[in-house]
Amino acid sequence: EELANKISAGEVVDRPASAVKELIENSIDSGAKKIRVSVEEAGLNLIEIIDNGSGIEADDLPIALLSHATSKIKTSADLDRIRTLGFRGEALASIASISELTIETSTEKELSGSRLVAKGGKVELLEAMAKIKGTRISIKKLFFNTPARLKFVHSLQVENYHITDIINRESLAHPETSFTLISENKPIVQTTGSGDLRQTIAQIYGIANARKIIDISAEDLDYKIQGYISLPELTRASRNYISILLNGRYIRNLEINRAIIKGYGTKLMVGRFPLVVLNIQMSPQIVDVNVHPNKLEVKFTKGDELMQLISESIRKTLSEKTLIPL
Ligand code: ADP
Ligand code: MG
Repeated sequence: EELANKISAGEVVDRPASAVKELIENSIDSGAKKIRVSVEEAGLNLIEIIDNGSGIEADDLPIALLSHATSKIKTSADLDRIRTLGFRGEALASIASISELTIETSTEKELSGSRLVAKGGKVELLEAMAKIKGTRISIKKLFFNTPARLKFVHSLQVENYHITDIINRESLAHPETSFTLISENKPIVQTTGSGDLRQTIAQIYGIANARKIIDISAEDLDYKIQGYISLPELTRASRNYISILLNGRYIRNLEINRAIIKGYGTKLMVGRFPLVVLNIQMSPQIVDVNVHPNKLEVKFTKGDELMQLISESIRKTLSEKTLIPL
């Protein structure tokens, strides 16, 4: 079991940013409206995440560390929905198996909170503590017992970049949640959680940039897309400027990137990317999220139709907008 966790850990947690992503998504799932992440040495020395979500009951706390322990599958009807969202109950187990982990948590209905400390996946301490609001998780010395994985980790600068990218995208996926990222005691990202996507874009990319984006929305029988795209004058040399959310979770999909760029057509210089935040709503039946265990890559059953919808709606939205002088 422990060895299996360590092996699957390499799949789920290939770098500190992947651990950050899993922990944030757990906080979101618990209903948190405020999430604060602090890192030291790009997460290798410390990842601390504090949320104001529902917390974990004392009895459930040691169970949460077990592989395939998930509180999120209750019925077999859930199973289908959950599979497509990527819930598998192995993130905490994987992270715990390759770090020193402390969880402090309280639920509203319990009289006290609880604390769990584990090292390399082995629980070393489980005790009651004073109540807090939500959950605090600290991950120390990530990869301490997997030196091979540690070798794959790039410079701290690159790893910090990936962590910031995760927080940015989670903020865009959840504008109703306030995110704070602190690295080496310095504030890096701060969103207010107002619920307004344009405001969140402004908080991440700057107000000047947020003024150069326009609304987009379109739908057909299977898909509904909605979000913001930048005017062709606002571009960057990085494809990370494009954020795709699928039923509320962000994904990576090169085909969608290509469809977006196709929609801009000759308005876009080669090698440049527009600022795009696109929400795609669809039936979970026509996607397979679990192509890669870190859940970022997906395959669509009706992919051509979706790409067509994206390219066409961008082309149309841009040509309508550019007729009106701004
Ligand atoms: P999954 O999210 O796939 O269910 P995880 O391994 O990520 O599996 O988490 C295991 C369980 O621990 C979750 O199902 C949830 O019950 C609990 N949990 C983890 N993090 C939190 C959190 N921040 N707040 C409340 N519950 C949490
Ligand atoms: Mg999870």
